[in-house]
Amino acid sequence: MPLIRPRILLASRILTMDLARPQATAVAVGRDGRIAAVGDRAHCQHALPDAELMDLAGDVLLPGFVESHSHPVLSGVATQPPAFWIAPTVGYATWQSVTAVFEKAQATSPAGQPLLFTGFDPLLQGATPPTNTVLDAYFPDREVLVIDNSGHSAYFNSAVIQRMGWSNAPPPDPVGGSFGRNGDGTSNGQAFEEPPLLLLIQTLMGEMVPHPLASAAQWYALMAGNGITTASEMTYNSSQKGAFEALARLPHCPLRLLLYHVSTASDCAGPWESAVPPEMLRKQGIKLWADGSPWVGNIALTFPYLDTPTVRAAGIQPGIPTAMNYRREQLDRILDQLAGNQLRFDVKQQSSLCTQNWQMAIHVNGDAALDVVLDAFEAALTRHNLLGTDHRWRLEHLGAARPDQLKRAASLGVYASMGPFQFRYWGDLLDGEIFDHAHGAQWSRVREATEAGLRPSYHNDGSASPPSPLGNIKTAVTRTTQSGSAHGLEQRVSLDEALRAQTIDAAFILGCEQEVGSIEVGKQADFVQLDVDPHDVEPMLIEAGISVQATWLGGERIDLVAFEQAAGVSDPEPHRHLATMVAKRCC
Ligand SMILES: [Zn+2]
Repeated sequence: MPLIRPRILLASRILTMDLARPQATAVAVGRDGRIAAVGDRAHCQHALPDAELMDLAGDVLLPGFVESHSHPVLSGVATQPPAFWIAPTVGYATWQSVTAVFEKAQATSPAGQPLLFTGFDPLLQGATPPTNTVLDAYFPDREVLVIDNSGHSAYFNSAVIQRMGWSNAPPPDPVGGSFGRNGDGTSNGQAFEEPPLLLLIQTLMGEMVPHPLASAAQWYALMAGNGITTASEMTYNSSQKGAFEALARLPHCPLRLLLYHVSTASDCAGPWESAVPPEMLRKQGIKLWADGSPWVGNIALTFPYLDTPTVRAAGIQPGIPTAMNYRREQLDRILDQLAGNQLRFDVKQQSSLCTQNWQMAIHVNGDAALDVVLDAFEAALTRHNLLGTDHRWRLEHLGAARPDQLKRAASLGVYASMGPFQFRYWGDLLDGEIFDHAHGAQWSRVREATEAGLRPSYHNDGSASPPSPLGNIKTAVTRTTQSGSAHGLEQRVSLDEALRAQTIDAAFILGCEQEVGSIEVGKQADFVQLDVDPHDVEPMLIEAGISVQATWLGGERIDLVAFEQAAGVSDPEPHRHLATMVAKRCC
């Protein structure tokens, strides 16, 4: 990091997340961008006598928020302009509101410009997935692709069918995916799962998203605008390396990133080497998917989806789902391959050492899937002599996890990254429409995960939902959904627990708690500047009643306009291939 002018930030209150000194009013930042002193003005001036004083005019400082599970590059490409984001999580609650976007886009976009829409959600928008005939009514004369919020399905109009050369019929169904067909075998404008989505995207995306790096930068800025200074990329593969490095090198890059390499990549256990400083970008672990999305129905549960119009309209089969991506023996084999002979970044040595394992992070929503994962984790940790060590293996989401499973996970030394956003947006349906009350109201057991010792951090899993640490905190504290209804109030946590989940506990699960996540001497001077202390607003106003004024990274106030402008004028050519990754967006 470039050297900065030493400075002392004066705030009305500083919430440090350091239990030894929870509050302060001044923080001194040294030339290296790290925290030199924390306390009051006099204490900081004593520590750094020549430092510039910067009065934050009554604002409140916290450690920059940490998002422990996100997909920033893919989210940017899929949802940011020139793409259209039509998800219910960003305000498009009905199919009618989606078609209003269609009409406006058709009226205002240059003739012939192909268009990408992302975020259709049949469950929340209460709509039947569109066919080409439906889309043709809005887009008679340009190519249009609509991608489901889950990333599992795509819908397209007749212009796309023609462009793909599928006027007589789409290709035979590839392994792992399928095309929607009319009775006569012609395409109905629908495609399901990654292989067919890739076909569409490889043909269309170059024109729909001509500058993927600029799109990714917009997502970085969206995260930073919501107070985030450290995040993860949970869908990393080596073809994205250049893009992450390019973003990290741009002026005012607002995010430090920890990368989780997808386990399906042949080089996923390989070392990380980069000229970008490791405090800005490095590989941290490996990501696996045990099951899929509760909104698609491809998860493994011990209890049933109800037989309701909501469930059927979403194309989910009522009953107990058993969809697992791996059998137990397959998981064992993968964990055995990955759990030995790996590297891990050593913070003190500032280098990767062949002494510990890569951290495993596994996506698991269903409780039946979690039983299998915990069995596999326990066996692998035992075989590799990792039980009782600081392996810090992680579980992602844990929507349907049971209390006994949370305790068992904690006993294995495993930690949790949870998504209060699932409850926030789908909670009203979960409780009685999708599942029975006993299971639906308890979806995402944040309180019990906290008590079990899983030290849950919170995420938005962008672009499954927009990045909002304050929204997650409000949801965890109030246990209310987007409509304001409360379900499963016994899962509420305290405000301080929730604040820790988006700061120091999220840094912990990312393995960077020695560097960020709290305001302590020696750590990076990464801050979020709020206009109000969250303790001073009504819990229901924790998101709407608080404004993120700025973020600071390494002691520098981040200028998001400068960052986005730099990305916009950068050379798009080396990163054009990123657009095809929209098809691999499954979270
Ligand atoms: Zn994800």
